[in-house]
Amino acid sequence: MEDTDKQLYWLRNRLAELEYWRDLERGGMDRAIREVHATERRLLAEPQLGRDIERQGRRSAARGVGRAGCMSRRAELMGRLIDFSRIENDGRLRAALGRIGQEFSRLRFPETMATLMKSSDPHRRRRALVCMAGAGAALEPQCRDMVRLANAVAEQCGYAGYVEAKLSFEGLTGAEVGALFRRWRDRLMPVWREATSDATRRWGSEIPPHDLLYALNTGGRAQEAICRRSACDGVMIRLLERLGAPLEAWPVYISRAKIPFNGACYRVQPGRDVRILLSRALTGYAACFYLFHEFGHAAYYSHCPQGSEMLIDSQLSREIVAEIWTRFLQNAEFLSELTSLDSRRAEAVVAARARYDGCRLLLTIRDSMFTFEVFRDPERPWSDVWSQVTDEWLGQGDPSGAFDIYDMPNPMDTKNYAIAQAVATEWFEEALRRCGGRLSPLLLEAMVARLYHPGNLKDWQDKFTW
Ligand SMILES: [Zn+2]
Repeated sequence: MEDTDKQLYWLRNRLAELEYWRDLERGGMDRAIREVHATERRLLAEPQLGRDIERQGRRSAARGVGRAGCMSRRAELMGRLIDFSRIENDGRLRAALGRIGQEFSRLRFPETMATLMKSSDPHRRRRALVCMAGAGAALEPQCRDMVRLANAVAEQCGYAGYVEAKLSFEGLTGAEVGALFRRWRDRLMPVWREATSDATRRWGSEIPPHDLLYALNTGGRAQEAICRRSACDGVMIRLLERLGAPLEAWPVYISRAKIPFNGACYRVQPGRDVRILLSRALTGYAACFYLFHEFGHAAYYSHCPQGSEMLIDSQLSREIVAEIWTRFLQNAEFLSELTSLDSRRAEAVVAARARYDGCRLLLTIRDSMFTFEVFRDPERPWSDVWSQVTDEWLGQGDPSGAFDIYDMPNPMDTKNYAIAQAVATEWFEEALRRCGGRLSPLLLEAMVARLYHPGNLKDWQDKFTW
């Protein structure tokens, strides 16, 4: 088992490097990437591996102590990975997800979302929503077949359905996700009501569905002034100095390129070679935000355990640590210390952003719950499910009939972004309280000691609880 764990670690490092070059449009990477995935599937399907893990489980008397404890945790995590990869790597399910993924790249969902959020032309926004509604309706039967298949495969593997299988792989239950989301809905509902009624006032009439994101987004225009793109690196450099670890001390290489996404981080070799790519098109607050988010990933890979894939945190946990870094921008005092904004402007930017983020979080929660619901009952018309979920989580219906199936090619990943936002905010609030509320090396020390060094040796739910 130790050997497989090590091999997986090197394979995923290799994969990160290949993806880095692919994203920089160096040709010939796709075949090599497919080969890495195939090798990983072969490793996990090895029958000897299952027997090894069982043996390791029997030796678990020393669980929780020293090397034996570490080995039993690695065996437990590997067992979960093998279990879930039996579902994820089912040939028919992989083919169905691959086909949906291809349809999605043709539909250009990110561009449509960007139009809905940013285009000042109401006709373009309306066309974008009509296009999304059409795409959702056209893809519904194909997605429904995939959902039925995913549930059937999960049932064959002993789960009640795909939702239960995926959550248990991630160390979660549906009840826990529901409780977290409800807590945040209650916290954010007043923000949502205020933002939508303000937007309606500015609009002069009821906001049509295709204008909602735009109307909420324009409330935060002050953010655009935060800094020019060229000044973003300076903001990060100043932050790292205050945290006692100047940029040169990190094994992190940042570059900007023409890429079809906002940014990404690549763990080419954790602790030694971590790369960040950012879109050249980003400006204003977004340029800083994505730099901080990706640096959060890079900070984790700079200090995480090395040589064992099982000890690298799950995708969900890694999103939380990345989000934590963006919280430095969401504190007015820090923002004015790190940029040239005076404290009054900094407060205005942070307030506008907090309101916008609150609305986005509620929307992401609604989108996540939609996926949960269609997996629980795929047979209902999905526009009905969307409308009911919107009513339950946003306190208002959505008569547009346009449901968002963005989550379908990687089912149930959207919820990670909602959980990450919520947990990151809670963790950072408490970290600041304990570290004197100022930018100081204590903050970074707490992140390294509590979140990065233990890796997945500690369950993520314990890790993010103070
Ligand atoms: Zn991320």
